Amino acid sequence: MSQPMPQTAYCYHCGKHQPIEEMRQLVTKTGKRWRCLKSIEATKQDRKAREAFGRGVTELNKAEAQAKLRILKVTQL
Ligand SMILES: [Zn+2]
Repeated sequence: MSQPMPQTAYCYHCGKHQPIEEMRQLVTKTGKRWRCLKSIEATKQDRKAREAFGRGVTELNKAEAQAKLRILKVTQL
């Protein structure tokens, strides 16, 4: 048994132990906690997706407003 035990830490986000190389230690109000990079990345992706969605809605509204303007112009002629 010369192989050292893989170092793990408890990920407070997933609620399970994971290899320390895939984790990051964060300092919170309650002390130092470990969180895996996977969950950190997932949160980042979520935020990006939400932002992209927000932009999409804005663009859609703009396109709709422009379409209405065009219709107005046509009916005024
Ligand atoms: Zn995790």
